[in-house]
Amino acid sequence: MAAKRTEIADLGEFGLIDRIKNGFSLQNLTSLKGIGDDTAVIDIGTENLLVSTDMLLEGIHFDLSYMPLQHLGYKAVAVNVSDIAAMNGKPEQIVVALGISNRFSLEAVDMLYEGIRAACSNYKVDLVGGDTTSSPSGLVISITAIGRAAKDKTVLRSGGKPNDIICVTGDLGAAFMGLQVLAREKEVFQTNPNMQPDLEKYEYMVGRQLKPEARMDIVHELAEKNIVPTSMIDVSDGLASELLHLAKNSGAGIKIFEEKIPIDSQTYETAIEFHIDPTTTAMNGGEDYELLFTIKPSDFETLKNHADIHFIGHLHDNASQHLMISKQGTVVPIQAQGWKHF
Ligand code: ADP
Ligand code: MG
Repeated sequence: MAAKRTEIADLGEFGLIDRIKNGFSLQNLTSLKGIGDDTAVIDIGTENLLVSTDMLLEGIHFDLSYMPLQHLGYKAVAVNVSDIAAMNGKPEQIVVALGISNRFSLEAVDMLYEGIRAACSNYKVDLVGGDTTSSPSGLVISITAIGRAAKDKTVLRSGGKPNDIICVTGDLGAAFMGLQVLAREKEVFQTNPNMQPDLEKYEYMVGRQLKPEARMDIVHELAEKNIVPTSMIDVSDGLASELLHLAKNSGAGIKIFEEKIPIDSQTYETAIEFHIDPTTTAMNGGEDYELLFTIKPSDFETLKNHADIHFIGHLHDNASQHLMISKQGTVVPIQAQGWKHF
């Protein structure tokens, strides 16, 4: 009888991570939080150390025909800083591991590091090490970010309580629409190389795809206002998937209102042009790197006039019920789509 073979696609990315997690138990008291949050949380005495790693692979996460190397370097740092932000922490160091083929010149590596340097300067983090190896053809960049948070200000995905208000920063779906625009322009260019891409109308979305920012500004503002979210995650896979992570970890149900989901008007119009439901770009698009968090109802007063924080719904006590009230008033179950790399 042939040995059993299970496809990874049958489990999906999250199923696979759960399976890995279940195979390990934590042995050190200093490992406060292991697999399952935006970063690991490590007890270093008076504060917590935060560690997170994210890998970007050519052909999966980026296409160098439209991703300039400086932007790639910047983005690779920003997505890691975003995970530290999602713990309400402050990033301090990064290490960078690079797999690179002879397709790339020294000048190309310089450009990549120019982006990394710009991000280090912007987020005030130090590049303190890494690893360099050859790769048969594609480019691989894996960054580990290290940060810190006060013990009583470290925010997990699991602290949400019924009636807490669900907040999201910025706007959603733009990075996904930016990718659709870039893919379309690439196709047009391949069939007719004399065509000049017309990206002006789509500038905001393309910028969100190529040069995302981690919302450290929000982390600092929340600290100034003395607000500690009850739970938090960054939006890397799409709002739906992240909402379900908060719900599952907090043991609470979700109720959000479609009309409250922040979508930029350019994103909205471009989605219509591409025959995509604008809400779907926010729910299932991903790569927004905004912060999704919950606050105690008593903190609403302090944040309610904030220009860049949007209140989209609340948690409730039916932990198996995750709903969106549509613009028409119908009830739609929230389902995760996220990225399917497998
Ligand atoms: P994020 O989107 O915030 O980067 P992920 O969905 O990539 O988070 O990962 C979720 C959790 O699973 C994190 O705690 C991460 O460290 C952990 N994780 C992901 N892949 C692996 C792996 N191959 N082995 C162990 N832990 C993993
Ligand atoms: Mg994250």
